[in-house]
Amino acid sequence: VIVGSGPGGYVAAIRASQLGLRTAIIEADRVGGRCLNYACIPAKAVLHVADVLQSTESATELGITVGKAKIDFNKVQERRAQVITTLTGGVGALLTKNKVEVINGRGRLEGEGRISVESDGSAQEIRALKAIILATGSIAKPLPGTPFEDRVIDTEKAWALPELPTTLAVVGAGASGVEIASAYARLGSKVTLLEGLDRVTPAEDTDISRLAERAFKKQGIDVRCGVKVEDVRSLERSVKFSVDGEALEVEWLVVATGRGADTKGLGLDAAGVQTSDDGLISVDASLRTTSAGVWAIGDLVRGPALAHKASDEGIIAVEDAAGHDTHALDIDNIPRATFCSPNIATVGLTEADAIARGFDVIAVSVPFSAVGAGAVYGDRTGMVKLIGERRYGALLGGHIIGSRATDLIQQVADVRALEGGFPELARICHGHPTFSEAVMEAARAADGWLIHG
Ligand SMILES: Cc1cc2nc3c(=O)[nH]c(=O)nc-3n(C[C@H](O)[C@H](O)[C@H](O)COP(=O)(O)OP(=O)(O)OC[C@H]3O[C@@H](n4cnc5c(N)ncnc54)[C@H](O)[C@@H]3O)c2cc1C
Repeated sequence: VIVGSGPGGYVAAIRASQLGLRTAIIEADRVGGRCLNYACIPAKAVLHVADVLQSTESATELGITVGKAKIDFNKVQERRAQVITTLTGGVGALLTKNKVEVINGRGRLEGEGRISVESDGSAQEIRALKAIILATGSIAKPLPGTPFEDRVIDTEKAWALPELPTTLAVVGAGASGVEIASAYARLGSKVTLLEGLDRVTPAEDTDISRLAERAFKKQGIDVRCGVKVEDVRSLERSVKFSVDGEALEVEWLVVATGRGADTKGLGLDAAGVQTSDDGLISVDASLRTTSAGVWAIGDLVRGPALAHKASDEGIIAVEDAAGHDTHALDIDNIPRATFCSPNIATVGLTEADAIARGFDVIAVSVPFSAVGAGAVYGDRTGMVKLIGERRYGALLGGHIIGSRATDLIQQVADVRALEGGFPELARICHGHPTFSEAVMEAARAADGWLIHG
């Protein structure tokens, strides 16, 4: 029995069914979880509109004359809803095809394999004979002392606004925050991006943050780092707050400062499932919790809160539950993609992390302008940065900013997963003219024989 039907839960259910297990999935809300209904997918559907608008605005450079592009925000939101329906419908069909029973309701562990499911005031109890997989995801954390209410909203709500805001402020310049800022700024809103730490995208390599900040400012975003947001007051049509003492007022304040595991009412204590101090469920490499017969995956457990990580963990947990040998997930090799403009993507260690871990580090950067694709497709500002280890040629990390970075990063992850290093990546034949050649050239630079550049 799987609790939660997000990318962790539904993938786990399909894999369980493939392995011959009779499988049920319990969902309190909508099939597809937060990822498909409120988070990843709606976010990317709206971001895509901003990307197309941006292309349209630079079309004259390509010799295409178009009139002044205008946003019909109702249409944007209709398409967002349509994309969600298409994809959640697809997940529903996959569950049916794989004979997974979908039970609507809120699941709660009762111990010894029993789960109560409450729906519309009535409850039923079901029993998992082999395994329970917890996949209930995460919920947004508010700013301390400032609950989400009215005009103070979380990142999920930010993608489903009723109309295109005139003004909007985002607190937190991590992945979700910069996606929202970069989408709305390009759609025409006046955006203020506020970050408590000293740079945007603080989890990224510092060179990436520097280029990202420059690009965000070019989009007209008012970027303020190292600041504190206080005295937030939500009014009928706006929200007032102060930033380091300066009073600001915007239509919406989006809080993108972090999320916490959704374990409320899940009955963890009854089942003997332990959590750590940060509220995440404690698991081993096979995603087993401290309670025999109960696994936990996705945003409920350690590691980056990402959809593809949740899905891979679902597969590992189910294979382990079914008694198969399985591979633990290499947390350091989970690619992270941020779909702002420019795209940002990362895998492995930053330069600072690699130095801190004591490696003899080689750090190289190759701009997109070094390869033909940069000029052909009109992105000469992108960059690939690779972090290597000098003695054995290990590829410790990859950091890409620019067009298609979110796809390109997979090259670095694949080479690492297959235990290749930068000397191997440097000698893999790459298609031309593609941005992937910049990744290859960066590997050549690390190996000491950069051809283009
Ligand atoms: C705005 C935003 C954008 C994002 N964009 C990306 C992105 O581009 N790429 C990416 O990889 N990640 C992205 N993420 C992160 C991604 O959404 C999560 O990592 C992912 O959804 C986690 O999947 P999950 O299966 O663990 O849980 P979820 O997707 O959160 O699904 C959990 C499900 O469990 C259900 N549930 C909860 N409690 C119960 C219960 N007691 N009984 C029954 N059902 C229950 C919930 O209703 C929900 O449907 C984004 C997150 C946000 C907020």
